[in-house]
Amino acid sequence: MRLGAMRLIGGRTERRKDGTDLDRPTVRPPDRRGSGGSGRLPVLDERLRGTKFVELPVQSAANSPESTGMGFWSINPYVGCEFGCSYCYARYAHRYVVERARDGGRITQHEFHDLRRPVGLEGFEHRIFVKSRQAVLAALARDLPRIRRRTARDGPQSIVIGTATDPYQPAERQYQITRAVLGRLRDERGFRIGIITKSPLVCRDTGLLRQLARQHWLSVYISLVSADIRVIKLFEARSPMPHTRLKALEELTSAGVRAGVIVAPILPGITDSQWQIDQLVRAAKQAGAQFVYPSPLRLYPAVRQRFLPIVERHFPKLAQRYRAAYDDKCNAPQKYIAAVTRRFQRIARKYGIPETDAEKEQPRGQGEGSAMQLSFWQ
Ligand code: SF4
Repeated sequence: MRLGAMRLIGGRTERRKDGTDLDRPTVRPPDRRGSGGSGRLPVLDERLRGTKFVELPVQSAANSPESTGMGFWSINPYVGCEFGCSYCYARYAHRYVVERARDGGRITQHEFHDLRRPVGLEGFEHRIFVKSRQAVLAALARDLPRIRRRTARDGPQSIVIGTATDPYQPAERQYQITRAVLGRLRDERGFRIGIITKSPLVCRDTGLLRQLARQHWLSVYISLVSADIRVIKLFEARSPMPHTRLKALEELTSAGVRAGVIVAPILPGITDSQWQIDQLVRAAKQAGAQFVYPSPLRLYPAVRQRFLPIVERHFPKLAQRYRAAYDDKCNAPQKYIAAVTRRFQRIARKYGIPETDAEKEQPRGQGEGSAMQLSFWQ
């Protein structure tokens, strides 16, 4: 279902005969002949730059704290993400979905290779699984009584949207599943709702977010690892540039939506200097950030194949240190985490950005020797 070649001429988008933009995907209803009885995964759309959108059956919409071990409910309308950040750990979930579909006989071997792509990691960025909106809403309706009961018993439950993939990635412009989920949550009250995104598309829903904030404690986390465009282009070339994210932050906070910046991940030796963090926090402050939340890099084995070659090419002196520090584990050394978190918090205090939950979660008793631990990367 290729749409044919798209060309941008003089800044104008070419149009289809029916007047719609060629760079906007056409949504076809899922091919029920292929999906219904056989349980196959129908292709919803295929874009010119090679991205396919594939419908994914839904069992539940909100993953419970017990199932993820994260201490909150999580909702992810998409599996895979076109932003394709090199350090993104959610590649695992995509691989899991593809392998399960193959093992369940819902895709052929040919489709399996197409969904994984040649090296096995690019599928995450070019083959996006989309949960059907109706199915997500039906599943959420089943999940909500449990969340309400927990709220009544234990106090406000936290629901975080976008823990694994960006809920406002390009697919959301078309499929609007995140918007539908937020619309459903607007009918509830008394939860703590967090939304994590790199996309200015979140501003499309500003009105809805304001309504939600009247019913719940709502926070929008704009994800930004650096204010330096060069860093963004190296590690997440297809995500929105820093100034557009900061502008989105400003738009949200100006509209009265509680929002801040999540700096995840901090890249050791690359984005963790005093100057870089200062530059980022200052920019966040100017955009009205009400909190900043730091989180150092986790490097899962499958992500290394995508991330480390970039470090080797552009930061050759750091490559060996990365390999040694992360060696057989995913987390940075605990002393490094404590040291960089304290640096971050000092700078946040300098700009008068209130301390966040991040401070409560930092490793305790390991802050001594901060300078030594940070200099390990410098
Ligand atoms: S935007 Fe988030 S979910 Fe998407 S690739 Fe980047 S880190 Fe992963």
